[in-house]
Amino acid sequence: MEIGAGPYLNEAPAARSIIVIGAGFSGTLAALKLLARDATLHVQLVEGSGRVGRGLAYGACSPGHLLNVPVGRLEVGLTPGLGQWLAGRHDELGVALEESAGSLADAFVPRALFGDYLEERLRVAASAVGPSRLEVIRSEAVSLLELPRQGVLLRDGRELLADAIILATGNMPPKAPLPPRSPVRDDPAFIADPWSPGTPDDPDRDACIVLVGTGLTMVDTVLRLRDDGHRGPIHAVSRRGLTPLEHRFGGAWPPFLELDATRSPLALMRSVRAAAAAAMARGIPWQRVIDAVRPSTSRIWTGWSRAERRRFLRHVRPYWDAHRHRLAPRIADRLQAALRGGDLTIWSGGMVGCRSQGGGIEVDVRARGQSGLRTLRASRLINCTGPRSDFASLGMPLFASLRRRGLVHPDELGLGIETSDCAVCGRDGCPSTWLFALGPLTRPAWWEITAVPEIAAQVDHLVAVLVPAEADRDHPSLARSFVDLGAGI
Ligand SMILES: Cc1cc2nc3c(=O)[nH]c(=O)nc-3n(C[C@H](O)[C@H](O)[C@H](O)COP(=O)(O)OP(=O)(O)OC[C@H]3O[C@@H](n4cnc5c(N)ncnc54)[C@H](O)[C@@H]3O)c2cc1C
Repeated sequence: MEIGAGPYLNEAPAARSIIVIGAGFSGTLAALKLLARDATLHVQLVEGSGRVGRGLAYGACSPGHLLNVPVGRLEVGLTPGLGQWLAGRHDELGVALEESAGSLADAFVPRALFGDYLEERLRVAASAVGPSRLEVIRSEAVSLLELPRQGVLLRDGRELLADAIILATGNMPPKAPLPPRSPVRDDPAFIADPWSPGTPDDPDRDACIVLVGTGLTMVDTVLRLRDDGHRGPIHAVSRRGLTPLEHRFGGAWPPFLELDATRSPLALMRSVRAAAAAAMARGIPWQRVIDAVRPSTSRIWTGWSRAERRRFLRHVRPYWDAHRHRLAPRIADRLQAALRGGDLTIWSGGMVGCRSQGGGIEVDVRARGQSGLRTLRASRLINCTGPRSDFASLGMPLFASLRRRGLVHPDELGLGIETSDCAVCGRDGCPSTWLFALGPLTRPAWWEITAVPEIAAQVDHLVAVLVPAEADRDHPSLARSFVDLGAGI
């Protein structure tokens, strides 16, 4: 299914052709759905890393990393469905099924299995349709061709032409939480990207390790360190010290947000808190209240002014993230056990300084509201701040070139690039008729476009726009698709 090395220029193809840049979850699903919808379409799926079909989330993971969405919510419209595919792998699901009392739909399974599923679907599709319809091209897209030619320039010098291009470049490497000229940046004991394949081995399994960030990346990193045999203390630092909370099944809570409650972040939080208290008083987990908000999040976000969105990001986001992006129960149990046993310490405060010292890094931490410092002597300082999204300063060649040419416009809040219904907006604010985007980089327009269910709805929408069928010439709006996701985990 791959194109061999060597110069490759595809002259304007007879059938319609679409280039998808990025073969993570978003790009892979888009390619598969486009092929299924139009039997004449030619799709070129371009991937710059060695991970085709898996992306970061389902490629750079170890066996202890679980999906934080149960199987029943991960059906993305492929055949066979995930549940059907997993049913043939019951021996790999022992603990997950034990935890969910035998219910596959409610089971939290390893992330790597979801990656296997996607990669296999792509392989099967490629051999079914052949290279005249699907080409998987392993190279980095470094820029788009100069107009009027619509296409992509690859790092190896090849040029691809197409009628439409979809950016599905996903999660960008994290930004270092260090001053620009800090010498620690070049210290091998500083791990700038915990997902990077070249991460060096732990030199001393009993030494202290400091993590910057206390969200899902921190949880992933703690699990990986423990599974790799690290025994020493782990300290994790963030401004508020909030960690992701856990999923809980049971109960139901109806959509409850009145129009007034969504006018501002403060009003929204008041309303959510009141509903959570009412739910818990009736024995219903607060998680159902958050789930009831989820189908409306993009509508609420788009209804807010820029100032309100900024206020949400500054004051509410850490709390929203901790309650919304939750942990599978047995991951939450491991985290709690590590906290109780003193193996893991969460600091609410900040890393106020750090320096290289004797093969490790000394980290000065100040707890929130206190004046004194504590110096931690760490064998590793690991950046767990999560994927970066500030496209205005992102140095990756593709985005630097798109920015320079005014083809993309980073949003002012540093969340991604401006889009309108998936069409990329240029510097002039106009949505493109041939350049589209999917997944996390479209966050400015949708806010919640991180997890599989939302991205799958977005992919379906864009596919319907690019290949309209008679039945859906009046394709449903994207907001409608999100509402149709319904409440639930
Ligand atoms: C660690 C982690 C765990 C997650 N766990 C869950 C979960 O359990 N459940 C859930 O619902 N969601 C989860 N998510 C969220 C979500 O599923 C992912 O963010 C989603 O997979 C995004 O997919 P993507 O294809 O847009 O991005 P990515 O997975 O980042 O894939 C983008 C791909 O594009 C490639 N690429 C980038 N630039 C170029 C270029 N210039 N040329 C060629 N290729 C390029 C990259 O190499 C990469 O393979 C998780 C996210 C992360 C980061």
